[in-house]
Amino acid sequence: MTKRLYYNSPYQIELKTTVTECRKRADGLFNVLTAETIVFPAGGGQPSDIGKMNNASIVAAEDMGDDVFHIVDAIFDPGETVTITIDWNRRFDHSQQHTGEHMVSGIAHSLFSVKNVGFHMGTDYVTIDFDKMLTKEQINELEMAVNRAILMDIPVRSKIISMEELSTISLRKKADGISGAIRIVDIEGIDSCTCCGTHTLTTGGVGLLKITDSMKHRGGIRLWMTCGMRALVDYSGKHDTLIRLGKHFSTRWQNLEAAILSQEKELADMRFEAKRRQLRYCELRAKELLSNTSGQFIAAIESDSEIEEIKLLCDRIIQEEDKITLLFGTKSDTIYYCIARGSEVDISMKTLCLAVNAALSGKGGGRDDIAQGSAKIDPCLPTPDLNMVIANIRNIIHK
Ligand SMILES: [Zn+2]
Repeated sequence: MTKRLYYNSPYQIELKTTVTECRKRADGLFNVLTAETIVFPAGGGQPSDIGKMNNASIVAAEDMGDDVFHIVDAIFDPGETVTITIDWNRRFDHSQQHTGEHMVSGIAHSLFSVKNVGFHMGTDYVTIDFDKMLTKEQINELEMAVNRAILMDIPVRSKIISMEELSTISLRKKADGISGAIRIVDIEGIDSCTCCGTHTLTTGGVGLLKITDSMKHRGGIRLWMTCGMRALVDYSGKHDTLIRLGKHFSTRWQNLEAAILSQEKELADMRFEAKRRQLRYCELRAKELLSNTSGQFIAAIESDSEIEEIKLLCDRIIQEEDKITLLFGTKSDTIYYCIARGSEVDISMKTLCLAVNAALSGKGGGRDDIAQGSAKIDPCLPTPDLNMVIANIRNIIHK
């Protein structure tokens, strides 16, 4: 049975102890058992500690019954004295998030009678699931109450009790399927529950708690929360972004939302106006092309036009007159094409589009009444002669 020193000395970062067993694992690493340990194995939603055993790396630790196996990348002899050190930044961060979780769960339970039904602690984020929905106002109230309790620096105490004692005390949460000696973690006036994890010595160690996001989850709510240095990093990142954006918009961060909404409206108005002008342009250009063309086939090359504009123009022309219309648009290194027919024409535009694809090594397709495509201009090859392509399509139509 490994003596777990992290229960009562959660801030101990170094330990001299004796190896009692060492077994090779299937993955080539070793399960090393020691008389006692300061290394927390994964459990209760909290990830495992990592650290060193002499100069070897402890990559994780696992709970196996009463023992804690250190998973180490070197072999050790039973009886050997070793020095174990833990990655303190990682451990303290986990302890801060874990203590924060107790506080959020305990206070939410007191204030709103909600039950913690899930907890995840990862390297990037921490979530708590509650069985009932909370409003935005309740979440704010909860966050304020937790931070007030952090500032009160209340001791976080743990004790081991028997199963008999367990049935006589009132707890927010009792873990399922436990037996033998049971560990209770108690923050006076805030929370009391069974727990195997590591915590800060007082609530003040949590530093700061921020609920960063929420979503509906299985009939209740999932909250994203962040504590301690993680909360500071979150604050700093958001602060820097707001200050940068404020400079960009030449305003204080407090006025940013209004500035962004105002720019959004300006942009929507400009898009509306650009569209109105484009439609007007297509109307006039269609008239111009129609007045310069006789016969059933209209073709043109529109410089500096993308697919949307040549489609609009095609559409405008066939609305005016029942003709086959082939338009090319060119913009930087791309040729766009659209080919459309009026309702009285019985040639399939798909067939003509295939001929354009073949001539330009392009890609495109569509329906019998309208088809479109595009081709990249290869700078290593001669620029395609679009007038030749138009002449070829004219021949196909005449045949
Ligand atoms: Zn805990």
